[in-house]
Amino acid sequence: MCGIVGYIGTKKAVPVLINGLLSLEYRGYDSAGIAVLNSSKSSDYELDIFRDKGRVKNLQDNKDLQKSDSTIGIAHTRWATHGIPSKENAHPHTNNDKNIAVVHNGIIENYDKLRTFLSNKGYTLYSETDTEVIPNLVDYYYKKNKDFSEAGLLKAVADTLNDLIGSYAIGVLSNNFPDQIIVAKKDSPLVVGKGDGENYIASDIPAVLSHTKNFYFMEDGELAVISKDNIDFYNTFLKKIKKDLKNIEWDSTQSEKNGYDDFMLKEIFEQPKAVLETIGTSFEKDKINLPLDDIKFSKFNKIYIVACGTAMHAGLATKYTFEKFAKIPMEVDVSSEFRYRDPLINEHTLCIFISQSGETADTIAALKLAKSKGSTTIAIVNVIGSSITRLADYVLYTHAGPEIAVASTKAYTCQTTLLNILALYIAENNLNNLDDKEVKELASLKKDILSLPQKIEDALKTADAVKDIAKNIYKKKDVFFIGRNTDYTVSLEASLKLKEISYIHSDAYAAGELKHGSIALMEDSVDVIGIVTNTKILPKTISNLEEVITRGANVYIITDQTIDNKAFKNIISIPKISYMLSPIVSVIPLQLLAYYVAKNKKLDVDKPRNLAKSVTVE
Ligand code: GLU
Repeated sequence: MCGIVGYIGTKKAVPVLINGLLSLEYRGYDSAGIAVLNSSKSSDYELDIFRDKGRVKNLQDNKDLQKSDSTIGIAHTRWATHGIPSKENAHPHTNNDKNIAVVHNGIIENYDKLRTFLSNKGYTLYSETDTEVIPNLVDYYYKKNKDFSEAGLLKAVADTLNDLIGSYAIGVLSNNFPDQIIVAKKDSPLVVGKGDGENYIASDIPAVLSHTKNFYFMEDGELAVISKDNIDFYNTFLKKIKKDLKNIEWDSTQSEKNGYDDFMLKEIFEQPKAVLETIGTSFEKDKINLPLDDIKFSKFNKIYIVACGTAMHAGLATKYTFEKFAKIPMEVDVSSEFRYRDPLINEHTLCIFISQSGETADTIAALKLAKSKGSTTIAIVNVIGSSITRLADYVLYTHAGPEIAVASTKAYTCQTTLLNILALYIAENNLNNLDDKEVKELASLKKDILSLPQKIEDALKTADAVKDIAKNIYKKKDVFFIGRNTDYTVSLEASLKLKEISYIHSDAYAAGELKHGSIALMEDSVDVIGIVTNTKILPKTISNLEEVITRGANVYIITDQTIDNKAFKNIISIPKISYMLSPIVSVIPLQLLAYYVAKNKKLDVDKPRNLAKSVTVE
């Protein structure tokens, strides 16, 4: 979580840093800060720190900051883990002498012990954060090692890292060395953007994409010293290493709102294109073509899909396709649970990990666990070069483009599409498992996949009808979503979306489970949204919806079926598609519902409270 950005070059640093922070705000936004070096008063440089609580906007308005001509700086937008969101806890933090500034993304788990150590050495810690130990430890080692050269500062940073337990991406700036920024990372993301006579650091590519498309991806345990014309990379032992420069094809305008009120709405409407691009890269004419040629799928007797939040719902939505066509039992688990249980994994297990950012801390840990037990690992990721892509045996990219809104929309539909494609790819590589009828069904599902972009486009036409419903729902305290099979998995996603951005309490139930407890919650004016897309079980879900109407609930239905029943007055129709793919279509009005409900409540849909886009801490 949190966003780091840094610049060194010949331009004024502050506008670059502010713009970087604004585009990173989706990662954390409870406070923000900037450190720059100014040389105006004497030939010596001064380390100037500007911090404020709340949004980057508060910082941006600071007159002194605006006056700065500095051409070097580091900046941070915080998602507090230790210490309340406040000016005092905002980054950058400094050493007691105030000549070393640090921005940090992550958690220092042994901070308490380190604080005691520093206090015993005479240091004062002014904030409640875990981060503040870092600049003070750097100071401690810098003085202890008695090497006051540039290399001495790097050594002091490396010594400090040896003491840290936990996760970090850090940027270090000192006015003793005004021509360099030092960075390091472990378990939190950091990229170095290469320019011409200038260089950048960032937690995420979009922060500096308008300046450069050339990036180095920092690996765990690596450090770098960045000057305006040079970037030197080091391993943990401070041995120089070589790294490959990668070109990123994303277009910087993709990270802008392009006339939409919010990123979320823009991203909802980008789904036909995003899904089309995801399909385009995995199909060659009508043949599925994935870079998984050397996997022998017949050796697997179990598939795990492991992910968090919306990505996990994408996994749940596709269990049906995997089991029907790939014919391998599949289990879907949340990464934070999977990593701390003792899952039955061996070389006959295929583990699939899903993460939009490719930096989700729990998913990274789960992936490492699966690898250590000898399973084959495939990652489904949106961000090229991210940590998970470097860890997994195989990587399949969704082509959603940058997703900026905290609530995921286009990443979900692309992940669900790609997982369906993967299930069919596995089936095609194991065709002897399928009978003639199933082979025909598989061909038909493939055709349906190709029709998805148009179906999504049509589903977007429900926007006005959904907007009307939202005018009622936004006043509610509780909203329930019910469905069966894939419709149930979409209910879970719809409920999460509504909670995330509207703060309305919501729950999702498998419709058949209602009678086993939760129907007790049904009373006058409770809102229940039913999702009904599977012809086979249509009558079952309809009966459940009638049962809740009988108990006073208002029912809304999202369906691709013909429902001729006077009991239901609010029906939103969506295009018909196989029930295995229906989550990719039925989720569209449900995403729009969450969006319009939050807008009615006048909430910031792109940056919901307490949340951050990529969850890089446990
Ligand atoms: N743990 C640090 C803090 O609470 C950094 C949090 C972040 O990654 O934003 O200040």
